[in-house]
Amino acid sequence: MNERIFGVDVGGTTVKIGLFDREGTLLRKWEIPTRREDEGKNILPDTAASILQEMKEQNILPENVLGVGLGVPGPVLPDGTVERCVNLGWKETVDLDDTLGKLLGGIPVTAGNDANVAALGEVWKGAGVGRSSAVMVTLGTGVGGGIVINGEIICGAHGMGGEIGHMHIRDDDLDVCNCGGQGCVEQSASATGLVREAKRVLAANPDTESSMRKSGDALDSRRIIDCAKDGDALASQAVDTMANYLGRALANIAMVVDPEAFIIGGGVSRAGAFLTDIVTRYYHRYSPLSKKKSYIVLASLGNDAGMYGAAKLVLNRFGKS
Ligand SMILES: [Zn+2]
Repeated sequence: MNERIFGVDVGGTTVKIGLFDREGTLLRKWEIPTRREDEGKNILPDTAASILQEMKEQNILPENVLGVGLGVPGPVLPDGTVERCVNLGWKETVDLDDTLGKLLGGIPVTAGNDANVAALGEVWKGAGVGRSSAVMVTLGTGVGGGIVINGEIICGAHGMGGEIGHMHIRDDDLDVCNCGGQGCVEQSASATGLVREAKRVLAANPDTESSMRKSGDALDSRRIIDCAKDGDALASQAVDTMANYLGRALANIAMVVDPEAFIIGGGVSRAGAFLTDIVTRYYHRYSPLSKKKSYIVLASLGNDAGMYGAAKLVLNRFGKS
């Protein structure tokens, strides 16, 4: 049977939809706007309509669709419900599998948290290909995470599995994180965290020359990394602090789940090997048992990781018969 799978990544701005075959070849991809107005009530109907339209155009019968996988930016429980999804405007519990499944006329649906699903995508077809376990860390405005062990996502009892960004890692950071905690990984290792650290370093060293000063309030993570690459001492210090805390977090995770690899993605990962080399140095310092065993690599699927992972979620759940 010529089975097809849809992998859907619901973001705050767009819904990315991919059509896959069973082997994981991305046959077609497109996106529709995420309509967050009216508490996001149109998002799932819009997604369903777009998938049904594609099936019609491509002559795909419902019985030839193995399922639809869905990644959403919120904590998805093992039963496919999400309690709240602020980024999408959802204020009440949504049963994703059931609601989207009904809108699709009974096609099986399975959902997961977007960061977890992206990790699954990278393990399946990206930087982790050939491996069955990896931990993905996405360094963007915040820090997202996903843990895949033996090919399955670890989502935990409350959907918080893999929330690496909110591990406490730093006692001397007294600013309060979005989660209500202090000293979270996200506060040190995100793009925002790196800028905060760089500003701290600049303020503490008013007499030291740094090309970062030229940027003023427009200083961003990319500029800091560029300055560090050029040998700017204060920029290097900020990047080093960030890499230190990230390396420490990865070392702790390694001693809990022992993955084959850590996959680093997100905007800050564009710093490439320059950043991962420093993180790796700290990682080995804090986790000597992992040396020469698990590696830190860069993500390779970019924005498509969520679609791939959502498709793999379908294979994991419905593809084993
Ligand atoms: Zn936090």
